Amino acid sequence: MEFASALKIAAVPFYMAQAAECALFEHAYRERLPLLIKGPTGCGKTRFVEHMAARLGRPLVTVSCHDDLSAADLVGRHLIADGDTVWCDGPLTRAVRSGAICYLDEVVEARKDTTVVLHPLADDRRVLPIERTGELLPAAPGFMLVISYNPGYQNLLKSLKPSTRQRFVALSFGYPAPEVEQRIVEAEAGADAALAATLVRLAQALRRLTDHDLEETVSTRLLVVAARLVRAGLPLQAACQAAIVDALTDDAETAAALGELTRAVI
Ligand code: ADP
Repeated sequence: MEFASALKIAAVPFYMAQAAECALFEHAYRERLPLLIKGPTGCGKTRFVEHMAARLGRPLVTVSCHDDLSAADLVGRHLIADGDTVWCDGPLTRAVRSGAICYLDEVVEARKDTTVVLHPLADDRRVLPIERTGELLPAAPGFMLVISYNPGYQNLLKSLKPSTRQRFVALSFGYPAPEVEQRIVEAEAGADAALAATLVRLAQALRRLTDHDLEETVSTRLLVVAARLVRAGLPLQAACQAAIVDALTDDAETAAALGELTRAVI
């Protein structure tokens, strides 16, 4: 199928496991169970799903959810083409039909009507009701639903309903252990061990800070970016300022405090 092959990931993307999450994913896939991944931004959720999809030989359909995303955006809609009305599958429907892994990133951002279409797919029915065409589409054997969200961003209005979350096997991600994170920075940025170790030490120090008004602390993603800037020739301090401090806050006082801590550590 053209769609499926287009999205098949040729090589298995590098992923350094934090614990036994790869085995859990594989068991969930084989048992046809949907998976919910919780964790802060930049801790490797997307890479993990890309890695597992490639390992399992499944095409991957990723949807970044936002507050305007509706059920029709996922399922599909009628479009007018050459004066005719034609049905056009949305990304979820394409994944269900072709047996792909469908990854809905930051699913709690999406509009509430999206959960209605997920429920029959996420329990043992494994069907997608397409209201507008009257089709009740059974999921192809390789189909797997994976959703993620960041509990740090949640408020009472934006969280998963118990009836939704209880349909999913849950996996909690945190930032990797220092030795794992160091190897990720080395591999992803081509950084040497000393640079990677310094950045991981800085991350540890920044993550220990509690009395600041940051929405989120430094992620593995930011460490990789800082290391890449250094590899490209930027001095370490400037790289940390641009990739980490200024990425974390807009507040001048907080930035000054983080900058000071950065200078003390690196
Ligand atoms: P999330 O989806 O949790 O926001 P990503 O999966 O996009 O985070 O990770 C951000 C970046 O951090 C990746 O592009 C990759 O460079 C790096 N990364 C984080 N964790 C890992 C890991 N365990 N193995 C390999 N790379 C990782």
